[in-house]
Amino acid sequence: VVRELAAGRVVLLTDQARGEAALLASAGLVTPETLVFLIRNSEGIVSAPMRAERLDQLRIPPQLGGPSATSGRPGLPEPAVSVDLRKGVSTGISARDRAATLRALANPRTIAPDLVRPGHVAPIRCSAGGVLDHQRLMPGALDLCVLAGCGPCAAVAELAESADGRSAVEVAGRMAPAAGLVAVDVSDVARHRRVSESHVGRGASTTLPTVHGEFQALGYDYDRDGSAQLVLYVGNIASDDVLVRVHAECITGDALGSRRCRCAQALDASLQIIGQRGRGVVVYLRERGRAGVGMAHIVEGCGVRDERDETIAAHILRDLGVRSAILLTDRPDGPVGPTGFGLTVSRRIAVLG
Ligand SMILES: [Zn+2]
Repeated sequence: VVRELAAGRVVLLTDQARGEAALLASAGLVTPETLVFLIRNSEGIVSAPMRAERLDQLRIPPQLGGPSATSGRPGLPEPAVSVDLRKGVSTGISARDRAATLRALANPRTIAPDLVRPGHVAPIRCSAGGVLDHQRLMPGALDLCVLAGCGPCAAVAELAESADGRSAVEVAGRMAPAAGLVAVDVSDVARHRRVSESHVGRGASTTLPTVHGEFQALGYDYDRDGSAQLVLYVGNIASDDVLVRVHAECITGDALGSRRCRCAQALDASLQIIGQRGRGVVVYLRERGRAGVGMAHIVEGCGVRDERDETIAAHILRDLGVRSAILLTDRPDGPVGPTGFGLTVSRRIAVLG
């Protein structure tokens, strides 16, 4: 998809979760012919998702007054005041004029006085985290164009439901092969960004003597949610076939001696094996500090890791230089474990037998 966008071609972006879909091209490379194709094969409205920060630089405010962000959360995508390019266009409404305006919006050298307001191209204000903040069409389209290196703006035309009631996603599914278009879902864009961008920062390090020997303790910050993670390691772990335990914090088991789970035994066994071998790492994933989540976690059982957890663990292991892992798991049929970023799991050992 990124290659298609970088070549100036149109692609399809779906949002399976919402049943929405859109045609998408890089605004920086858009031609009048591309724009006509977008308009004829969609609802007919071409939007231009851009980062809020860039829109502020260009003095293009939201349509409904001030920023909608509340309580520190990134604001939902929202329409900004429409614009036209000031010079080199006539009425602004023709495909040629709108293509020129879109290319100007994608050009980092464009400045506020180059644009007149209102106009015929409607930017959509997207928060800095893009599809990682909101898994939706507009931020997804913008992220894809940025990934394609085509400038921070996309040309997006949403698809309508068909007359016989098929959803936009179904319409896209039929259009893709017929028109020879490559398609991608916003969830895949988000997954790609989560695994390809590092969001962990190494913190303070100290020596920690334990009943299983002396470990190095190392803190990590995860910048997507500000959480603090903990690593214990010993020996040279920047290599292959490193013993790795990814442990999801379990307050009741790890700290309070609960017998409802075997989290503490698994952790203890892992530290023991790693201590004896003199080489290995425990990634201790902290429980999320959001209200309600902790109690639900305790009630529903523990040791369950989601994609976020595996992503953090994989980022940390890559930062530590681990190339392949021998995973210390609770059960042989447990989660696959952290992979991606050049990290592979070469073998699994069940520590609870
Ligand atoms: Zn537990």
